[in-house]
Amino acid sequence: MFSEEITNYSWKETTEQIYAMTDADVRRALTKEHCCIDDFMALVSPAAAPYLEQMATLSKRYTEERFGHTMSLFIPLYLTNSCANSCVYCGFHISNPMPRTILTPEEMENEYKAIKQLGPFENLLLVTGENPAKAGVPYLARALDKAKEYFANLKIEVMPLKTEEYKELTNHGLNGVICFQETYNAARYNIYHPRGMKSKFDWRVNAPDRMGMAGVHSIGMGVLIGLEEWRTDVTMMARHLRYLQRKYWRTKYSVNFPRLRPSDNGGFQPNVVMTDRELAQLTFAMRIFDHDVDISYSTRETAHFRDHMAPLGVTTMSAESHTEPGGYATYPEALEQFAISDNRTAVEVCKRLKELGIEPVWKDWDASFDYKQQTI
Ligand code: SF4
Repeated sequence: MFSEEITNYSWKETTEQIYAMTDADVRRALTKEHCCIDDFMALVSPAAAPYLEQMATLSKRYTEERFGHTMSLFIPLYLTNSCANSCVYCGFHISNPMPRTILTPEEMENEYKAIKQLGPFENLLLVTGENPAKAGVPYLARALDKAKEYFANLKIEVMPLKTEEYKELTNHGLNGVICFQETYNAARYNIYHPRGMKSKFDWRVNAPDRMGMAGVHSIGMGVLIGLEEWRTDVTMMARHLRYLQRKYWRTKYSVNFPRLRPSDNGGFQPNVVMTDRELAQLTFAMRIFDHDVDISYSTRETAHFRDHMAPLGVTTMSAESHTEPGGYATYPEALEQFAISDNRTAVEVCKRLKELGIEPVWKDWDASFDYKQQTI
């Protein structure tokens, strides 16, 4: 399990190593077809900042080689904002006296139908807070069963589950699971996640292992940028990615780097603010490090930045997202989990991608592929 592997790496030493990277280390990493973790550290280090153009060119080349000129589009649907955890940066935390909603089967279906009116979406991400009593595995199974009638590719972003629970959900059409570690700094993890199941670092960090053992087709990873030193966090994530790829080599992986933004209303303020330039550097570094990993940008990022990055390394984007439960049809006025920056419609996003020479892909996976593979 990765909880054991991660004890081999010191947070402090990793940070020192990244900041000790030199111009020569960056230049060496840029000449390599296959980068190691040390190379990745060089590419995310401050020493790589002057090489952004060169990194962009390489990242673009690798992306085109592996993915062509395409962008996979998905849409998230929040099923509930009820949550037993108290993550200090999230509006859905248990102590927030806000109305809580758990979509009923009828409401879910209305949402599925409303999404289909926005565009020919086939990639759906079902999202919940962590409420295993009321929105646990049986509830998710029902949501997937119904969603299968409308969408070809189903992913979830919910509480970490047991191996057998992931397995059970794959029988209901589940294709992928996203679970962000938020931060790999085990010593400070509980400052941000003080109670509930999310306070258990090992349980969370081992979730991708359990997904791999359950045979989940696609595993999504991420760190929340703004909690800890981002360069160290993404290096830990790169180690985690390599570890998983060695162990569960049939699985497809995706990464995401959501940025916490400073809040005007006295809410949680990020400890570190990552600039657009730094996010671009990280995106290029990840693509140069791993030519095959899906790199996903959400509508947290602005339209301008997403358009700029679309040809340079990003391979998956959400569009026209609502981050409140029932936001497409049932409760369009409810409190969002986080504010959207790119407010364009799916049709507008699509049109812009085409202008940029990128073909939007609504459906890039079908569960029947699994069946075909088994019968070949
Ligand atoms: S981040 Fe997720 S687990 Fe944490 S409070 Fe928000 S909804 Fe709950």
